Amino acid sequence: MLLSRFPRTRLAHLPTPLEFAPRLTAALGGPDIWIKRDDCTGLGTGGNKTRKLEFLVGEALAQGADTLVTQGAVQSNHVRQTAAAAAKVGLACEVLLERRVPGTPHDYERTGNVLLDRLFGATIHVLDSAPADMNAEAERHGETLRARGRKPYVIPGGGSNPTGALGYVLCAFEIVAQANDLGLVVDRIVHGTGSTGTQAGLLAGLAATSAPIPLLGVSVRRPRAPQEDAVHALTLATLDKLGVTAGCAREHVVVDDRFVGPGYGQPTPEMVEALRLAARTEGLLFDPVYSGKALAGLVALCREGAFRKGETIIFIHTGGQASLPAYEAVLAAE
Ligand SMILES: *Cc1c(COP(=O)(O)O)cnc(C)c1O
Repeated sequence: MLLSRFPRTRLAHLPTPLEFAPRLTAALGGPDIWIKRDDCTGLGTGGNKTRKLEFLVGEALAQGADTLVTQGAVQSNHVRQTAAAAAKVGLACEVLLERRVPGTPHDYERTGNVLLDRLFGATIHVLDSAPADMNAEAERHGETLRARGRKPYVIPGGGSNPTGALGYVLCAFEIVAQANDLGLVVDRIVHGTGSTGTQAGLLAGLAATSAPIPLLGVSVRRPRAPQEDAVHALTLATLDKLGVTAGCAREHVVVDDRFVGPGYGQPTPEMVEALRLAARTEGLLFDPVYSGKALAGLVALCREGAFRKGETIIFIHTGGQASLPAYEAVLAAE
C-alpha cells in the first residue's frame, strides 16, 4: 500500500510513542491500557489534526495555494494546528470560528487555542450567528478571497475528507508495526470521534492491511447512528481514493454516544473525573472537549466490565490540551 503517490508535507513527529500506562491500568483494574501518544505529533502543541494536515497541506502546496482557509468551533484544535501548519510552510491562514458552546466564560474567545491561533498569525473571523453549514460558509469565504486574486485552499472542519483521512491510514500502519515490534495482541482501539476523519482513516488503514482490530469511537457530538453513518461514508470514500478493493462493512463502524453529556464542548462530571485520573496516575493531560470525554468512555467501559482482565486496549490520545485554560472554571475546583 503506497501512500507516497499522494502529495505530503512533513509536519508531525512520527512515529508517535505507544506507551503502557501501568498506574491507569491498575486504577481501572481491567484491561492493559496502552496510550498511543498522538498528542505528541509536535506541531503547535500537537494533536491528531497534524497527521491529516500533512496530506492536506501537501495538496494545497501542489495546487499552488497561497492561503489555507478552514473552520471550527471557537476552541478548535484543528484550527490551531492548521494555523501552525500555515505558518510553518509560509502560507496565509484565514479561519471561521463558530460559537458552538453555550454558557462559556468571558475569556473563552481569547485564551487556549484562540490565543495560539493569534500567535500563529491566523486571520480570525468569529461568526455572530452560526450558519447551518460551516463547511459551505468556509467555501464561500474561499470564493471571496479568490475574487480578490488570492489562491485559497479550503480545508473542511476537522480536516475530515479522504485526503485528510490518509493521515490516519498511515497511523493504522504505524500502530500495526508497533504492535508487531512489541509482540502485542491488540484486542481493541478506543478514541474520540468528532468530524470522523480519525476513525474513518483508521478503519480504512486496518482494512487495507488486513488487521481486523476492533475499533470503538467515543462520540463527542453526534448521536450514534448518524455518526456511524458519517464515519462509514468517509471510510468508503477513503478506500476508494486508495484504490483498495477490500471494503468496510457497516457493522465494523462502532460508535458509543453515551459520553457526550449536554452537548459538544460542554463539560460532564465523568470528563472531569477522567481528566483528574489520567493526570494523577500518569501525569498525562487530556482535554475537556474530545480526549477527556473519550477517556471518560474508556473508564466507564472498564467499570461496566466491557473488557476482560488482561485484554490489551490501545487508547489513542488525540491531544487537545491547548484548550485547558478555557475550561479553568470547571477544572480548578479541588
Ligand atoms: C478533532 C479531535 C478529535 C476527533 O477527531 P475527528 O477526526 O474529528 O473525528 C479528537 N480529539 C481531539 C483532541 C481533536 O481535536
